[in-house]
Amino acid sequence: IYETTVVYSPKVHHKFEIIVLLYDATETVRSKQIERDFVNNASHELRTPITSIAGFADTLLNGAKDDPETLDNFLRIIKAESDKLVQLTDDILTMSRVKSGERERKEINLHKYVDQQLKLVESNISSMNLHVENNIPADVNEEVIENDLFQIVKNLITNAISYNRKGGKIKIDYGSHHDRWKLVVSDTGIGIPLGQTDRVFERFYRVNNATKGGTGLGLAIVKEAVDDMNGSVRIESDEDSGTTVIVKFKRDIN
Ligand code: ADP
Repeated sequence: IYETTVVYSPKVHHKFEIIVLLYDATETVRSKQIERDFVNNASHELRTPITSIAGFADTLLNGAKDDPETLDNFLRIIKAESDKLVQLTDDILTMSRVKSGERERKEINLHKYVDQQLKLVESNISSMNLHVENNIPADVNEEVIENDLFQIVKNLITNAISYNRKGGKIKIDYGSHHDRWKLVVSDTGIGIPLGQTDRVFERFYRVNNATKGGTGLGLAIVKEAVDDMNGSVRIESDEDSGTTVIVKFKRDIN
């Protein structure tokens, strides 16, 4: 896609000169389109719970509130939809903030960092009766952008819990080779159907049978954060054995 600018020179000796500047605008046009799609999708996603809240509140006001059981049921739905709205707005804000916060790299002990993140979701892990292994060697330090690492670890662990089976396993592994290192989060959960392991990185994309009430932004945020650290991320998944997410980074890149 090219954008053009036409420049006329003044009339000199009864002649006009026209200069046409052509520049490649493919990237600009593409990112504008992505931005527009994001606003469209975000508005649609926000509208769904808002419409539902307004609808149930109207029905209550029109008399349904007089039946205590209906009142209780509808209030629960309104609460659940409000929680969804909070989660959505939080994720949308996070999405637009990745790449804009503190971008300095600092050295972090990965084993400790992952342990801290696991502590924050301890109650979810124990309510699913999951067995978690942090296999990152205790002495591993890497230079990272902390905001990005936070989003990557938090979202991958959250998914490994949410899409797991009761009594399942989660493993966090580390590997290093020359100037590259990787983090691998694997689970023994429900897996991602064949052909959808790339699509799950799209904003708001959720697998058809996804029953947990996520926003579909978790992995899109992971992708943004990984890009910000010049890394790459891919998923290997199988509906029998579970899901493995591999995040790779190169050292000494600014
Ligand atoms: P969500 O908020 O829905 O979890 P994500 O962007 O994190 O959004 O994930 C997108 C979809 O990919 C999820 O809805 C789910 O269907 C699928 N998914 C993500 N991680 C896993 C996993 N570890 N195991 C199985 N399915 C997963």
